Amino acid sequence: MSSGPGILILGSTGSIGCSTVEVVEHLRACGGYDLPVRGLAAGGNVTLLAEQARRLGTRHVAIADPNAVWAGDAAALTGPDAAAQLVREQAEPGDIVLAAIVGAAGIDAVLAAIERGCRIGLANKETLVAAGAVVMPAAREAGVEILPVDSEHSAIFQCLHGHPPGAEVERLVLTASGGPFRGCSRAEIEAVTVEQALAHPTWKMGPKVTVDSATLANKALEVLEAHWLFGLPADRIDAIIHPQSIIHGFVEFVDGSVLAQAGPPDMRTPIQVALTWPERLPAAGRRMDWAELSGLSFEPIDHDTFPMIRLAWNAIREGGTAGAVLNAANEVAVEAFLSGEIRFADIFRLVVDACDACPPRSVTDLDGITAADAEARRWVRTHLPAGSRT
Ligand code: NDP
Repeated sequence: MSSGPGILILGSTGSIGCSTVEVVEHLRACGGYDLPVRGLAAGGNVTLLAEQARRLGTRHVAIADPNAVWAGDAAALTGPDAAAQLVREQAEPGDIVLAAIVGAAGIDAVLAAIERGCRIGLANKETLVAAGAVVMPAAREAGVEILPVDSEHSAIFQCLHGHPPGAEVERLVLTASGGPFRGCSRAEIEAVTVEQALAHPTWKMGPKVTVDSATLANKALEVLEAHWLFGLPADRIDAIIHPQSIIHGFVEFVDGSVLAQAGPPDMRTPIQVALTWPERLPAAGRRMDWAELSGLSFEPIDHDTFPMIRLAWNAIREGGTAGAVLNAANEVAVEAFLSGEIRFADIFRLVVDACDACPPRSVTDLDGITAADAEARRWVRTHLPAGSRT
């Protein structure tokens, strides 16, 4: 077995984190690759974190919750900056940092990984949505590669191989399952329950990204993420509904050729691609059974009912802090929906209005992003509709 680079898994106790742990264990078991796990970071699920550290032989962990009680064997850093500190202290240049913390809380650790000269496997799309203007130049300057974990961006990345975006590429198209409310009118989704919003038809994910998939905010964030990863403007990044989630993305070239990437809806596949690229090793995830497939269908997105992608296109055009505002407003609105404070459709109203109320400013550093993020969070919290669940 060849010994690979070290890896740090940030957000190891979440959906992507657990799948990454499975891929790392699979790569060891199939005799392909041994990625020594130098560190794991989580929010507050110390029971699972301790089990993962023991199973993987990890000696260093980070826990964001300052009140969490750690009883594992590994040395633990605690507090909101613990993940970034873990990266600064334990990552070696050339290691892989698998960034799977949810939300803008993951930005600092990604910047720390860039400082350390690590290759980044990026699941934490909010980092680019909010802070792409800071993260991408820093990565370029440090010569750090950002490999997408999001299945759509992994698809585009693979299709673009050998054809970097630029004059040869006409446009990118991301697919969207459409979520549980595909085909519904605004009136039908006005007051759907949290349980209904969390019942995603094809993907099993953490609660925030599952609600984002139901509102199509997830696709909006992915349009912004694609803009930062591949450098194309808003009018050359589109999205389309594809309920089977088998084709993950298309690249349309100027000569009319279209490359698509396909695979079962199983996040272990794009995670493995990010960990082993450019090598191809035996699959940790499910394989396609083409005979089982009854068909592949596509339909346009109803942007009037689901307005988030338009906000993403606007944010790309406006630049500056517009992405940070969109992301922060959405994070707070989703939290408020999940905790029962607002109705489902209030998420749309709050995010649309916050983007209007918090005008974009030009930005050159993280302080500008942080200020815009805080302003948008404050704006949404002070505009939560009173008694909207009653
Ligand atoms: P989960 O909610 O399942 O997991 C989030 C992880 O982040 C958990 O390990 C959680 O720890 C940890 N965490 C939360 N806050 C902090 C913090 N402040 N510091 C350190 N760790 C923290 O989310 P997912 O795995 O579903 O998603 C993670 C990211 O990947 C999101 O950005 C999402 O958009 C993206 N993504 C997810 C996909 C999926 O299929 N799930 C697909 C593509 C992208 P704890 O469990 O201890 O609270």
